[in-house]
Amino acid sequence: MTTTSPTSRYVISAEEIRPGWTLLYACTFALQALSGVVRWFLAYPALWLVFTILGKSTWPVNSLALLIGFGPLALSFATLVLPLGGWLWRQQTGGRMPSERERLIYEDAMALLTQAETDLRPPRQWFVIDEPSLNAAAYAGFLMLTRGLIESGFLEPVLAHELGHLNTSDGRLTAAVHRLTTPPRKPLRFPLRTLGFLASGEVAMRVMRTPWAAYWRTREFAADQYAARLGQGEALARFLDTNALEHDLPIPFAWLSPHAHPSTEHRIDRLYTQEPAPDALAPGPEPVKPAPAGPPSAGPAGPALTEPGPSAG
Ligand SMILES: [Zn+2]
Repeated sequence: MTTTSPTSRYVISAEEIRPGWTLLYACTFALQALSGVVRWFLAYPALWLVFTILGKSTWPVNSLALLIGFGPLALSFATLVLPLGGWLWRQQTGGRMPSERERLIYEDAMALLTQAETDLRPPRQWFVIDEPSLNAAAYAGFLMLTRGLIESGFLEPVLAHELGHLNTSDGRLTAAVHRLTTPPRKPLRFPLRTLGFLASGEVAMRVMRTPWAAYWRTREFAADQYAARLGQGEALARFLDTNALEHDLPIPFAWLSPHAHPSTEHRIDRLYTQEPAPDALAPGPEPVKPAPAGPPSAGPAGPALTEPGPSAG
């Protein structure tokens, strides 16, 4: 369902721009430009051949090849800055419109959270997936909630955490990074494997995934901190304790891994030890700490609460 907020609220704001992710995105973008050259190099002769066989004039070939090569980069940047993206994600996850009673529960939760932060930016759209598990995810300006979560009584704290992703650059950055790559995002069979790896941009994501994962792990803590600012710190800690902790498994070389979530135990720890200062509850720009300067990583897996679903983290 579409919110009533004006579209201009969803254009990137100066407060969302932080040096850490900007550097990561710029590095990834530069590497992806090389994949753009590969796509252009492959598309040009293929298009030329098709146009020639069809007996058509070949004048649009270069423009089309440039579009195939570098269009994804332009689309990614537009997604970073403008309120774009999310529709396909909703289709892929099987999202549906909320029912009337789900909408009422959601609106109650939003009303409660808005009391703590009057400047709260609601999701551009939200939808429900019919899963009994308790989960939520943010991507671009979209929010996904599972039916199980809405029915669980834990909606407020989890929603507060996801709003942390949606009121910062996290949601848009997740979508923008995902859009830097193109299909085929999965490895092809020999002899196309290497070509697919280079042309899709997966090669750059492989290079950048460790720094991106490190970045996304810091953003989970920041979203938790945001939830605490909205008065949901303790409730979120309880949710993590009862619903997320059991899914944690040891991760060998965690700091090198593409794992975009910190350990649940550490999140609970911080939520209990970092109660918000009284003045932090006052409305105003979100004081999330600046992202660490480092390179980007993480797959398109962006902000999701427990284990990421299809495309959120
Ligand atoms: Zn999250």
